[in-house]
Amino acid sequence: MRRIRKLAAIVAGAVLTTLFVVPAAPATAAPWGCQFSTPYLHYKTAITNTAAYLNPAQWAARYWQETNTPITLSPVTTGANIVIADGYLPSADGYDGMIRTPAGQMENCTYNHNWTTGMYVWWNRTYTDYYTGEKKLSVMVHELGHALGLGHESFTSCNYVSIMEPKTAKRYDDCRKYKPTVADVAFINQIY
Ligand SMILES: [Zn+2]
Repeated sequence: MRRIRKLAAIVAGAVLTTLFVVPAAPATAAPWGCQFSTPYLHYKTAITNTAAYLNPAQWAARYWQETNTPITLSPVTTGANIVIADGYLPSADGYDGMIRTPAGQMENCTYNHNWTTGMYVWWNRTYTDYYTGEKKLSVMVHELGHALGLGHESFTSCNYVSIMEPKTAKRYDDCRKYKPTVADVAFINQIY
């Protein structure tokens, strides 16, 4: 049941809260999820404000790379499965991060939940330019969690709060989460 529930819980983006999830009901989930067909992944950075975002981009990838999971995230310049980018995203008003296809679509996965393209994970600089480096990390580790196949997970206690908590105010401001948690790692190990 846990797997079904969490696969059903994937949504696009992080928050302020996450696209697809109205801020008033952040635990509500969109009825689908996508993941990669392999855990052996390559990422590329496409950062415009390198002074503020390149380092958090690299650390966000590294935190997933360092989890005790099959996931590998190696930096490349071409052929990336995941592109980490920063931009001003008017279409994501109210959201500090999001995941999109290269064409800017919400999601694109096959019947067996595999992404059909590489994916872009974005910081929405309208908000994140005002975040500390660690808070930027919290957003991108969350978005990378979506790219890997995780949906949202909400807990009331900071003892349990997942990196997939949709509200950055809860995940980071209240609970200071900016790395994958034990629960996040466990779920990745169920799906890869
Ligand atoms: Zn999210």
